[in-house]
Amino acid sequence: MKTFTSLPIWAALAGAALAAAQELVERKVLAMGTVLELSVWAETRAQALEASELALREVERVETCLSTWKPESELSRLNRTPVGEPFELSSDLERHLGRARHLWEWTEGAFDPGLGLLVQAWGLREGGRQPSQSELEQALAAGSMASLEVGGGRATRRSEMQLEEGAFGKGIGLDEACAVLERAGIRKAVLNLGGQVRFVGQADGWPYGVAHPLERGEIVLEVVSRGGSLATSGNSERGLVVGGERRSHILDPRKGTPAPDVGSMTVWARDATTADALSTALFVLGPERGLAWAARQDGLEALHLISSPQGLQATATPGLRGRIRGLVAELELTFLATPALATRE
Ligand code: FAD
Ligand code: MG
Repeated sequence: MKTFTSLPIWAALAGAALAAAQELVERKVLAMGTVLELSVWAETRAQALEASELALREVERVETCLSTWKPESELSRLNRTPVGEPFELSSDLERHLGRARHLWEWTEGAFDPGLGLLVQAWGLREGGRQPSQSELEQALAAGSMASLEVGGGRATRRSEMQLEEGAFGKGIGLDEACAVLERAGIRKAVLNLGGQVRFVGQADGWPYGVAHPLERGEIVLEVVSRGGSLATSGNSERGLVVGGERRSHILDPRKGTPAPDVGSMTVWARDATTADALSTALFVLGPERGLAWAARQDGLEALHLISSPQGLQATATPGLRGRIRGLVAELELTFLATPALATRE
């Protein structure tokens, strides 16, 4: 074990505790149609392995509950329950739907997990298609979360609306897994699910890479973590091509159409479910409204990145000042001084 000489005793003890928790277990598994990477530190390898196993089980549990890619999942069964007929919810699903509803209300519908019929109409899971006007009108008429009644352990669809977990399910999986790690006494872990990262304990200072909006493989800046979670929404990985045109897989639920491709939106929040859903919502709101909205919220930061003929512009909320490292020369970074103005860094 390393000995600490010049540090004051409290730092030496803290450092020794951290040095003692230096057994690192790293794992990589497929989950939710993407890759889950776990890095877990503990005093012994056995403890870290056991804790990582608990975290994996939690992510699986969330996928079994929420995945509409699995016809037998609880959410798929809720989507198939006849309109007007109450569906008995597990306590997990009741909790997850409660969080999704709060985020839908908070973002005034820019994030809307009730857009399953729009996801189907635009063929988001089959590479994209142009829906007919009547399909679009039908999907919009089915409404959204507003057409789902939840209470007393039951959910009742009041229209043909379909729930879809794509913009919040990974966040829920990360939060549930990290809660289990904390209960197991883990004081440092980093979980990465499809590019979204959630930290446990002293994982401060971890560099979170943000990719070029058009080149998923090219990291152009890093955000230095301070706990919580970071998520990015954009089209570099899952964009669509409809009628030969690149379209976004992020839909504006209020209009029923793909949101304009505004580059990418990264959100830092204290929890992963919020970061996941809000990166999508702010993408839908667009950079101007999205960043100004984020700058007014407590415990939230956001960064917009766009590539244009003038180069690569990043605009961030003030709380990210000192936490962003540009990795390419052409990047220009500005911060919102107030919700309306930006000052050059
Ligand atoms: P985000 O911006 O976080 O989410 C965009 C996705 O959310 C879109 O793809 C759409 O599904 C939905 N969406 C679009 N606009 C909105 C909006 N305004 N409000 C709310 N939702 C919106 N993918 C597979 O290929 N195979 C699988 O088996 C599979 N299983 C999954 C299981 C679970 C539980 C979850 C959560 C996801 C699964 N996925 C699967 C989807 C994939 O993992 C990604 O979550 C998803 O495609 C996009 O995530 P993102 O972070 O890239 O984009
Ligand atoms: Mg997301």
